[in-house]
Amino acid sequence: MGRKIVIIGGVAGGASAAARLRRWNEEDEIILFERGEHVSFANCGLPYYIGGTIHAREKLFLQTPQGIRDRFNIDVRVLKEVIQIDREQKLVRFRDMITGETDEQPYDIVVLSPGAKPMIPDIPGLHEAVNVFTLRNIHDTDVIKAYVDERHPQHVTVIGAGFIGLEMAENLRERGLAVTIIDMGQQLLNPLDPEMAKWVEQHMRLNGVEVRLEEGVTAFEEQGTQLRLTSGGVLQTDMVILAIGVVPENELAKQSGLELGFRGAIQVNAQLQTSDPAIYAVGDAIQVKDRNHGFATMVSLAWGANRQGRLVADHINGQAISYDGALGTSVIKTFALTSASTGNNEKTLQRLGVPYQAVHIHPGSHAGYYPGASPIAMKLLFNPENGMIYGAQAVGADGADKRIDVIATAIRGHLNVRELADIELAYAPPYSSAKDPVNMAGYVASNIMDGLVQTIQWHEVDDFHRNGGLIIDVRDAVELQAGAIPGSIHIPLAEIRERMTEIPSDLEIAVSCQVGLRGYIAARILTQYGYRVRNVDGGYKTYSVMAERDHLLK
Ligand SMILES: Cc1cc2nc3c(=O)[nH]c(=O)nc-3n(C[C@H](O)[C@H](O)[C@H](O)COP(=O)(O)OP(=O)(O)OC[C@H]3O[C@@H](n4cnc5c(N)ncnc54)[C@H](O)[C@@H]3O)c2cc1C
Repeated sequence: MGRKIVIIGGVAGGASAAARLRRWNEEDEIILFERGEHVSFANCGLPYYIGGTIHAREKLFLQTPQGIRDRFNIDVRVLKEVIQIDREQKLVRFRDMITGETDEQPYDIVVLSPGAKPMIPDIPGLHEAVNVFTLRNIHDTDVIKAYVDERHPQHVTVIGAGFIGLEMAENLRERGLAVTIIDMGQQLLNPLDPEMAKWVEQHMRLNGVEVRLEEGVTAFEEQGTQLRLTSGGVLQTDMVILAIGVVPENELAKQSGLELGFRGAIQVNAQLQTSDPAIYAVGDAIQVKDRNHGFATMVSLAWGANRQGRLVADHINGQAISYDGALGTSVIKTFALTSASTGNNEKTLQRLGVPYQAVHIHPGSHAGYYPGASPIAMKLLFNPENGMIYGAQAVGADGADKRIDVIATAIRGHLNVRELADIELAYAPPYSSAKDPVNMAGYVASNIMDGLVQTIQWHEVDDFHRNGGLIIDVRDAVELQAGAIPGSIHIPLAEIRERMTEIPSDLEIAVSCQVGLRGYIAARILTQYGYRVRNVDGGYKTYSVMAERDHLLK
């Protein structure tokens, strides 16, 4: 006799679980409830359909309800919302979204994959506004696209500079709208650290997007066409995309007494069972643990939902599984720039108070002599005592995603930073360098661990100078025209040995070049002559991205 398995939510996690369950077992009765009209659609493609990169609406449907019925013999019930899980009687109650009628479905096992919904702030005038949109599903997409196609708005305000906000900003800009992004935070794209996010901010501006950080909306006026801002100003706008984050859809779980955790996310064990072992939960709705440090968090990304959906099906079919936590590996395109990250960022490591070391490098995406190479700003975070890799971030026009994927794999395989240098990666001039950026990050980190060099970070440099430290810029004279660290003296690397008498031996020294490589060489020379010296990590390029240009030009 097969079991009755009820799946709630028919998109990423739910559809993955359903398909895998059937592949394991032909006997089970699998019933999939989806409150919306569509199952298994491509949430991640929605902004690109609105923007016009994806032309055909049907491309967004990875499967249809009928397709799933035919291929997997799954009882797909769309437009049916589960409104209660009766754990005593082991049945779910559901409502037909069109007729409003309710009915019941017994179960042996439930898989919850209800996702997360857009956060709606309590701001005066929001409910009266007629031009404010959130984006989660096909219906939202149709409404937004129709508004753009038919009403021809000239200006859109995107509130929230996270993944969905930035993707919508790009896509609406591509449609010809003037775009303003507003965010309360000091930076956009929170998975990145501020000096990495700055590259993205600059690039958004370069593409005509106005970015207003540390700014919020205090009121929607004139039905949403006038926004009153925390800075005191007002902004006239034709359209607003609200993308300030998501909250787990936890109503069913809460109502049925399942344990909730971080920000109301559903708590699960390593087998993805909730506090009721007959009810599993996956995807955006659950609390996960950070893979490196074990703290509770939420990761609203599709990889986890797909992976967990599959694992749950395996466990239901007797396999020993363990979901051991998330790295939150992510990637986003903003115009010509790709930004990717994995693992912990520096903000998180500071909050946790764990010992860490940061490394910034700016290698080319491939060999410089082969046309089309572009720089990748890369940051690696690791434990300086044992070399454990905590995380990495990369921003560039080409190849940032591939480097982060390699480092995510390295973290998963418990490689340390020395071993990053030892990964034999594919090389030919159009693709990489004989020392790939991942290897380079490993070499730089190993040099620090080996005590060959000490570094100073971009945010420590000004204090270092104020406290009497001497900064030596070792770049060529021509490079200084684009700016230099205030107070630095100039001795090009090629002259450093012969001009050593100009360098006081009693001062602490920081050497700086453009990206950190020549600084490292200078630091090695000076160290061997007895100087106390540190290299500006990531060079002037990393330092200057966070500083105002006026302040830098001497
Ligand atoms: C615009 C957009 C772009 C994105 N881009 C990316 C990206 O590029 N990369 C990435 O990794 N992630 C991306 N994501 C996130 C990714 O889509 C989610 O992480 C993933 O879909 C989560 O899967 P899930 O199964 O938990 O929830 P969902 O896919 O949201 O599915 C949950 C479903 O459950 C249904 N449901 C909820 N409650 C009930 C109920 N009581 N009864 C019946 N049905 C119910 C909902 O209607 C919903 O369809 C994006 C998300 C959006 C919205």
